[in-house]
Amino acid sequence: MANSMYLFLHLVYVIFSFFGASRETFVFSGEPVVWRLSIMNEPYDVVIIGGGASGTSLLYTLAHYSTVPRVLLIEKYDKPGQVNSRASNNSQTLHVGDIETNYPLEKVRQVRPAALMLVRYAEMQPVAVRDAILFTMPKMVLAVGEHEVLVLEKRFSDISPLFPDVHKIDRDAIALIEPAVVAGRSPHVPICALATLKGYAVDYERLAQSFVDEALRTRSEYSVQYGSEVTLIVREGSEYVIQIKGRAPVRARAVVVDADSYSLYFAKQLGYGKQFSLIPIAGSFYFSKKILNGKVYTVQEPLLPFAAVHGDPDVCVSNVTRWGPTARFFPVLESRNLKTMIDYVRSSGLGRPRTWVSFFTILLEPIRFKYLLTNMLYELPWIGKRMLVKNVQKIIPEMCACDLKKAKGYGGMRLQRVDTTTHELQLGEGKIIGDNIIFNMTPSPGASVCLYNALRDAEHVVSFLGKNVQFDKVRMQNDFGEVV
Ligand SMILES: Cc1cc2nc3c(=O)[nH]c(=O)nc-3n(C[C@H](O)[C@H](O)[C@H](O)COP(=O)(O)OP(=O)(O)OC[C@H]3O[C@@H](n4cnc5c(N)ncnc54)[C@H](O)[C@@H]3O)c2cc1C
Repeated sequence: MANSMYLFLHLVYVIFSFFGASRETFVFSGEPVVWRLSIMNEPYDVVIIGGGASGTSLLYTLAHYSTVPRVLLIEKYDKPGQVNSRASNNSQTLHVGDIETNYPLEKVRQVRPAALMLVRYAEMQPVAVRDAILFTMPKMVLAVGEHEVLVLEKRFSDISPLFPDVHKIDRDAIALIEPAVVAGRSPHVPICALATLKGYAVDYERLAQSFVDEALRTRSEYSVQYGSEVTLIVREGSEYVIQIKGRAPVRARAVVVDADSYSLYFAKQLGYGKQFSLIPIAGSFYFSKKILNGKVYTVQEPLLPFAAVHGDPDVCVSNVTRWGPTARFFPVLESRNLKTMIDYVRSSGLGRPRTWVSFFTILLEPIRFKYLLTNMLYELPWIGKRMLVKNVQKIIPEMCACDLKKAKGYGGMRLQRVDTTTHELQLGEGKIIGDNIIFNMTPSPGASVCLYNALRDAEHVVSFLGKNVQFDKVRMQNDFGEVV
């Protein structure tokens, strides 16, 4: 009914426009009258903005574990998981905290059960869906040289109680799992690794699709609107009005913005998160012929918020090893989409001196500065690959630059949050909770922990909506095992 009404009024609008009526004829309080009329229908209880791993996992969670009656997910592209959750845009790793040597122990304790929820989810699906989402493969973090070996030994004693499947292995055992890591390596440089045969890769794009399928299969009153770009969120009384480019606005009693890099943009529209800015780090990838059986990471520099170059199979491209991501400062909100540069400038608060002070404080730290500068050089033709290969040779000593080929169209944006009041870089995901609205900023390991994040958001959403709706957290915890 609402749609027919909208179509009818839109038709009237188009016909009258054809005969010369100006847009203003139809405008009432800033929007065309047809849109205003169409939004006078029943508001949605919850509108989720963004159909990546985060937004779709919340749709699934509400559909399965809550009594929230009407939920709409709005996504800019014509299918889910097309930005950072797209299989070609991230490293496809399920980060559980075993090989991430830069995670403090407290974070490891939180991330492990949160990420393992995805394994349970995949296992609950029919075999064909499970096998399209979750891939089991060996995984290791490699230490090269005396210092790194000591770091990894200490790390092992700290984390081993949490990871019974992870073993500290020597050169010979490494050679059994990943022969190319040892081939041609100097016997004088000590190496060791923390390794498991049960590492996981995830196709987060298919995961997002599966969450949508599951949600819509379970609840006929839930819906997804693709090809709909949200331009503005406005508070009107106790509701939010969500403006969508070229479409009727929708109203919602509660909103969750799961637009990753765009979440801060929308938060600032509503006056939230003014103290935050974003350091935009683009990550690209390279391919070589298949040389690794699983994922091989290296010991991480704690000052860097993102994983260093690593190598692994690509779950969507057979017979290759994918290398990366590199880390290059590039001011956009979405990779390969230069139009998003303007929105980056709008959401990053570049007009404020304290943003610049924060950027200089963070980026001029010598280790980060050197890292970002060399990463910029990786993008240069000819010389770039020759510089990048030195990182890859830490893992595969016999790799040469000619073996590496830029993975065109691969890579995503890692928008690192900065608190401009403290001039600090904030690692991992961030959440701003406002008045019946949540904004999620989800750099790595955001995809790995999306279900846990959805669980937390479902609790908030239900508390926003009042006593008439419930969220069965206990049932979700029982289904997904031990959850923090
Ligand atoms: C190079 C790289 C490697 C990574 N590797 C890993 C990894 O190995 N493991 C891991 O766990 N994480 C990894 N990450 C992080 C991971 O990709 C993100 O945490 C995750 O994809 C975030 O999911 P999301 O749904 O929050 O965001 P996204 O997947 O980016 O989804 C946001 C959605 O919002 C939509 N949207 C935005 N604006 C609007 C609008 N105005 N209107 C409507 N819709 C809108 C977008 O179209 C998009 O679909 C990596 C990231 C990068 C860049």
